[in-house]
Amino acid sequence: MYQKTIFDNLIEINFEKEVSIEDLRPWSFSKYDSYLTCPIKFFFRYIYKIDVEKNKFLAFGSGVHLVIEKLLTKPVTLNEKIILNLAKGIKSKIEPLFDIDTFESYILYILKFVEKIKKNYSKFEVETSYACDENFSYVPYESKHSFLRGKIDLILEQPLEIQIVDHKTTGILNNRSLKNILGTLKDKSYKQLLWYAALVSLKKPRRTYTLSFFVIKNGKIFFRKIENLDTRKTFFKIKNRLLKIERKLENKSIFEIIDKKSFEVLKQKNKKLCFYCDYIKYCKKLEKLLEKKYW
Ligand code: SF4
Repeated sequence: MYQKTIFDNLIEINFEKEVSIEDLRPWSFSKYDSYLTCPIKFFFRYIYKIDVEKNKFLAFGSGVHLVIEKLLTKPVTLNEKIILNLAKGIKSKIEPLFDIDTFESYILYILKFVEKIKKNYSKFEVETSYACDENFSYVPYESKHSFLRGKIDLILEQPLEIQIVDHKTTGILNNRSLKNILGTLKDKSYKQLLWYAALVSLKKPRRTYTLSFFVIKNGKIFFRKIENLDTRKTFFKIKNRLLKIERKLENKSIFEIIDKKSFEVLKQKNKKLCFYCDYIKYCKKLEKLLEKKYW
């Protein structure tokens, strides 16, 4: 077990800690994606369980999600002034780092999005949690048998179709170009939404699933409709990928997964990510340890 003692503002990590199955399960898409993007970061976040401090990026995402949730679930009059006041209330009570000046530029997109949903759908779910066990049976989100789980921003229900919507605030605060944002989102989001479709199908089976994401930066909804989606088959494909990772990591310490050479390769591959990485100080510490170990 590692000790949570603060030294030089860093939590002391026991880098010899071996990965247990409890560290890995339940799987979420972000956990899986974190492993694929940078296994080192994955260790810091999910194995050593170092929480990152709330920053302006996380606060902006959370603030926007809360605004949309309130607008969809509460009987509020929809206009720009009310949305702005709602955002200000969220900033003062829940998200102090929520950047209201930036948010203001996107109010009209959010207003139009919420109006569209309220006008066209009588049945929808907002911010709901779904989970399933290893055999693809529905279980409560906090269940100890939960193998795969996800929190879904919006589910639009129709008799023959389910539409799953994920709200994306990507690239707003760091001024990324829309082309760049969409490149990343299209690649990752449809994969993530497919996971969600499998989970939702356990409670709401349909023949057709529309996977969509609402890009706040330009106010557009991007979608992909999948007819006759075999969600069971989808789940077992996902499960196989996850079991492969579990077999690779279980009972191993980071030193059995990352050596000096693979560390260098990851640093090179993640150059841009490293710049914004919340774990950079821990990563430098690890680098020193690897140097000593492989000297
Ligand atoms: S600094 Fe870069 S290599 Fe290190 S954990 Fe973060 S993303 Fe990974």
